[in-house]
Amino acid sequence: MSSDAHRAALERVALDMAGRGWAVFPIQPGRKFPPAWHRKATCPGRGPCAAGHVFPEHLATTDPEVIARVWARAPYNVAVYAGKSGLHVVDCDVRKPDEPAGPDGWAQLQALAGERGGPLPDTWTTTTPSDGRQLWFTVPPGCRLACTVKTIAPHVDTRGWGGYALAPGSVRADGAYGLFDDTDPVPLPGWLVQANVERGSAATSGRTVTAVAVPGAFAAKAVSEECARIAATPYKQGRNKVLSTAAYALGQLVGARVLDEGYARAQLRAAVATWNAPESAVKDDGVIETSLAAGMDNPRRITPRRRTRRAA
Ligand SMILES: [Zn+2]
Repeated sequence: MSSDAHRAALERVALDMAGRGWAVFPIQPGRKFPPAWHRKATCPGRGPCAAGHVFPEHLATTDPEVIARVWARAPYNVAVYAGKSGLHVVDCDVRKPDEPAGPDGWAQLQALAGERGGPLPDTWTTTTPSDGRQLWFTVPPGCRLACTVKTIAPHVDTRGWGGYALAPGSVRADGAYGLFDDTDPVPLPGWLVQANVERGSAATSGRTVTAVAVPGAFAAKAVSEECARIAATPYKQGRNKVLSTAAYALGQLVGARVLDEGYARAQLRAAVATWNAPESAVKDDGVIETSLAAGMDNPRRITPRRRTRRAA
């Protein structure tokens, strides 16, 4: 497909999603993260942010004119912000080769449905480039669900307020998102609402939780170890590599939603400041941003057991 045909195809996807009443926002071409928007830390304080930084979720839109204008610029992937769209997306991932043997997310979800008396109805379902499956449900009126990460079941995340799912047709370096079942989204079954609320981080209060502002013991230890390594690296002894490795590792924890992005960035910058090397400050900042984003694009898989052991 020519690059303009590819762009036009993604524009049609964005318009199609919006036509369903789902709020979309552009994601950097070829990636699942980050949104094509500045970060809070680099907010220019202009335009929509004149009265304070606004997040992509707030800007996500169903307005076809805005969508046509934005998608005319580049082949952006299409994020559907779940909560704002009245959706809850259940993301069933596959086991990574380096993870202990066990059922994939899809089997885990079916097992949970069995345990809870189900059903697990057919609904609008997409596929991810890594062979995962995402089930899109509508949310019962008045019910406001947050995202969950590996709490409902192993390899099962959910995307509610604060979270998004990529629409089919979006692409990553390793493949495209596809449509597996075009059944219109059905209401999220009661047992799944219940599982989300019991095991989720927050729900129904109107509060949204996407990441922890203050890291737990596991993430805090990772931050202090990485930052100590940065600070201890002498001049001309591979600082670039140490910094990019550290920022990538912390980015993976941000992607796994156990570490706040702003906190990670601030700690990395503080560690770099100990080098007292203003001549490389701009370059170092660039390394932090690039590597953090790359890590966030490849979230670390954190099993509850490993998390407990490392935290102990
Ligand atoms: Zn801003």
